[in-house]
Amino acid sequence: MYLTDYTIIWILIGLVVISCGLYLILKSPFCYPYYVYRFDISRKRKPEIMDLIDKFLIDNHFSQIQRHNLYIMQWKDECRKKIENSRFKNYRKRQFYACLDDENAYQFCMTRQQTRYRQRNYVKTSYQVTQEVGKFACNYNFLCTRNNQLREINYECTLREYHSKNQRKLMTKEIRRKIMIRDKYTCQYCGKYMPDEVGLHIDHIIPVSKGGKTIPSNLQVLCSKCNGNKSNKS
Ligand SMILES: [Zn+2]
Repeated sequence: MYLTDYTIIWILIGLVVISCGLYLILKSPFCYPYYVYRFDISRKRKPEIMDLIDKFLIDNHFSQIQRHNLYIMQWKDECRKKIENSRFKNYRKRQFYACLDDENAYQFCMTRQQTRYRQRNYVKTSYQVTQEVGKFACNYNFLCTRNNQLREINYECTLREYHSKNQRKLMTKEIRRKIMIRDKYTCQYCGKYMPDEVGLHIDHIIPVSKGGKTIPSNLQVLCSKCNGNKSNKS
């Protein structure tokens, strides 16, 4: 048989079209809907990802997690319908189960902005790149449990802080300022108002030595005199 150049071209085009079609039919139509959240830690020294996740939950983001769980369930329902209507039921079912990844459904990444430089024609220009420096993946139940544990301590601090053996170390400048503002620079015993903060102390209502935590509900502003009286009594 004699084939012209045109026939060969048409055969090639036909082959390409058929293989594209086959590829589209055979490839998995399922793509697992992961929840991805990125923490930008550019200005933090060495944060723990679990602390960041706790703070994320403390900032009332658990509703997002719940909403996403509903979304995953809806997605699964839709996939099942798709499988039912498909001509290759068993093949699609296998693809569906292969793409399920409930154990890693929630993914938290820590990213850092880095400045890099490029030199062109003797001119140095800077540009930013985002680099992933840490990752944590978990399932929905893990976050539910974590959120319940945080609720038990009234979302006052992260779980690591709550269980820390060194509660005094957790007394930071920020928490001092927070308590001063909350208590309006006023001694909570005698009512003395000292806006310059000098002579005011942050007191643990239940002392650290008796298991008191460095959390807002266990802290109060006292003047030196009242603070001295309190420690003499206890
Ligand atoms: Zn006082």
